[in-house]
Amino acid sequence: MIYDVIIIGGGPSGLTAALYGARAGLSVLVLERFFVGGQMTQIYEIFNYPGFPEGINGMDLAVLFEQQAKKWGAEIKQEEVTSVNKRNQLWQLSTKNNEYTARTVVAATGAYPRHLGVKGEAQLRGKGVSYCGTCDGPLYRDGTVAVIGGGNTALQDADFLTRYVKKIYLIHRRDEFRAQKVLVDQLKKSDKVEYYLNCEVTEILGADAVNAVNISHSDTGTTETLAVNGVFIFIGDNPNSGFCKDLIKTDPQGRVFTDSHYMTSEPGFFAIGDVRDREVYQVATAVGDGADVIHWVQKYLKENE
Ligand SMILES: Cc1cc2nc3c(=O)[nH]c(=O)nc-3n(C[C@H](O)[C@H](O)[C@H](O)COP(=O)(O)OP(=O)(O)OC[C@H]3O[C@@H](n4cnc5c(N)ncnc54)[C@H](O)[C@@H]3O)c2cc1C
Repeated sequence: MIYDVIIIGGGPSGLTAALYGARAGLSVLVLERFFVGGQMTQIYEIFNYPGFPEGINGMDLAVLFEQQAKKWGAEIKQEEVTSVNKRNQLWQLSTKNNEYTARTVVAATGAYPRHLGVKGEAQLRGKGVSYCGTCDGPLYRDGTVAVIGGGNTALQDADFLTRYVKKIYLIHRRDEFRAQKVLVDQLKKSDKVEYYLNCEVTEILGADAVNAVNISHSDTGTTETLAVNGVFIFIGDNPNSGFCKDLIKTDPQGRVFTDSHYMTSEPGFFAIGDVRDREVYQVATAVGDGADVIHWVQKYLKENE
């Protein structure tokens, strides 16, 4: 069978594209390597997805997305795509056990935040350890948090957090920030931020919730414990684009470049959601991409009949 579109990844962007594609009458296959839902499955409560004023559990939302896509005829299989190639204007996708063919491909493979890898991080994830200031910042109203990192995301999210928290310890392992100067200058205007440069977090402490971090000063060799309610880790993320990195253009981190129609450097190969090069990475923006891309997929199919 030749599918009109194969969507790689069953997170919110992929499942939305599947819903819109199926409703548009296209034959749609979603290939998801794990369970549907993507990063949403790691979110205990999503408070900023419209329609759920009391918040919704990420796994519950994922199940609803899946039901809706399937109800309109999208096919979903649990398989990891290992390579994609173009032959005679058709896309060949390989998984461990199968080969699939499609007229168009949508990469909706998302990304995952890099972890610090220190003691306490895994146990306290979702209990004070967060990788998303926009998502979890409002939970720390009047609290004290540690923000770890020195790039644009760290500085931007720290600035966002100043709206809610009473104090931020900004911990960075170097003596200067990689972030744009404008972001550094903006944050310096806040008297809520205390800077810990040349410092590394060595442990996150707490039983049921975060209550402190241990840090070490690399210039003096001393250690210190800072009492905090939350730890926000922004040390970069890894886009899931390895399976197509030799085929399409990406930035050095692997974020896929697209035009305003979600088209990658290869005609007929689209990319949406967190895997593509954009500024905001949220469920709502991923869903927006998924709804939008199908319009351009249909246009491409028509022009290349
Ligand atoms: C801890 C955490 C908390 C967050 N909190 C919020 C929040 O409160 N509100 C909010 O709006 N956003 C939040 N986000 C961000 C939000 O979850 C993401 O922006 C969104 O899930 C991105 O959707 P996506 O479909 O682009 O990618 P993902 O959700 O990353 O889904 C991609 C899917 O593709 C699959 N995949 C990858 N490679 C392959 C392959 N080769 N073959 C087959 N399948 C593949 C993956 O397994 C995954 O299921 C949070 C993220 C994290 C990590």
